[in-house]
Amino acid sequence: MNCSLAERVLLSYPMDRQRDRLCLQSLWDFVTAEEPLIKSPFFPVLFSFTAYMAFCLPYIALDFLSTRLPNLRKYKIQPQNYPTLSMMVPCIIQSAYHHVVLIFPVTFLHWYWRPMNLPVLAPELPEVLLEVGVCLFLFDFEYFLWHLLHHKVPWLYKTFHKVHHKHVSTFALTTQYSSVWELLSLGFFAAINPVLLGCHPLTEMIFFLVNIWFWLTVQ
Ligand SMILES: [Zn+2]
Repeated sequence: MNCSLAERVLLSYPMDRQRDRLCLQSLWDFVTAEEPLIKSPFFPVLFSFTAYMAFCLPYIALDFLSTRLPNLRKYKIQPQNYPTLSMMVPCIIQSAYHHVVLIFPVTFLHWYWRPMNLPVLAPELPEVLLEVGVCLFLFDFEYFLWHLLHHKVPWLYKTFHKVHHKHVSTFALTTQYSSVWELLSLGFFAAINPVLLGCHPLTEMIFFLVNIWFWLTVQ
């Protein structure tokens, strides 16, 4: 019987650990089948922008639909306010601009100094759940301190954080409407915790997606 390398390594594990890994092995095999793309220097920035826009789309659709459907409107926190195209377009342009001129150079340096290593095996499910939970908690705590500091110190607020509060009535696309310093700080908090915890690349990707989704939902 022909076995892949992943299957041969898996067979050497005890049965209970094989089960935990098997849950995510098919997903990991699917991801690693795109190895050239994942290892490319463009992957982090494409992944970040695509995930952000994809998660924004359902909320944008709900905002448009709620202008026509009164039953939907009653679930809006500010039912009298609707984001218009002229409010959305600058947010999309700013986000694309920041991804190209800011996030790409940073992720390129990261790719150069710390090339992504793709292990053969997927992580175990309990390990993924625990590490994603810890990363979310740490990120939230770090951003809480950052946010508190930037509201307490007037100079910090005016110079770096005020732009994020430009839209009093927020919508999905205002999530990343922020200064360069704020975006870099958030990117640093999101990237450093999985590195410190030694997370598997799949755990890192899952954390990144859950974190963006949480961030959009809370906004
Ligand atoms: Zn604030």
